[in-house]
Amino acid sequence: MSANTRSVFSTAAGRLCPDCGQPVAHCRCADRRAQQVRGDGVVRIHRETKGRGGKGVTLIKGLALNEADLKAMATRMKQHCGTGGTVKDGVIEIQGDNREHLLAWLAEQGIKAKLAGG
Ligand SMILES: [Zn+2]
Repeated sequence: MSANTRSVFSTAAGRLCPDCGQPVAHCRCADRRAQQVRGDGVVRIHRETKGRGGKGVTLIKGLALNEADLKAMATRMKQHCGTGGTVKDGVIEIQGDNREHLLAWLAEQGIKAKLAGG
């Protein structure tokens, strides 16, 4: 390795975080990101079929939750709908067209949502 090459790998400190430059073992960036509230609280339920074939997916956008809470909520939605799903960039994706289903479920949780587009 050339002496001029700056590597994110350091044998002494382990891998360094590209965001804060701290050793990953001491870095809290992931925690901070996980705690960050993603949505604006205006909850919209979309359906997306483009490029997915078949029934498409239901997208739940705008939930004012952090990443960890979004994942927990996605898990409950998947159980409720009996289908798969994931969380991507602060948006919950649930397999299939479950818009009406999830609208009613969110209302039960005291979360006002509206159907949008799709
Ligand atoms: Zn960091």
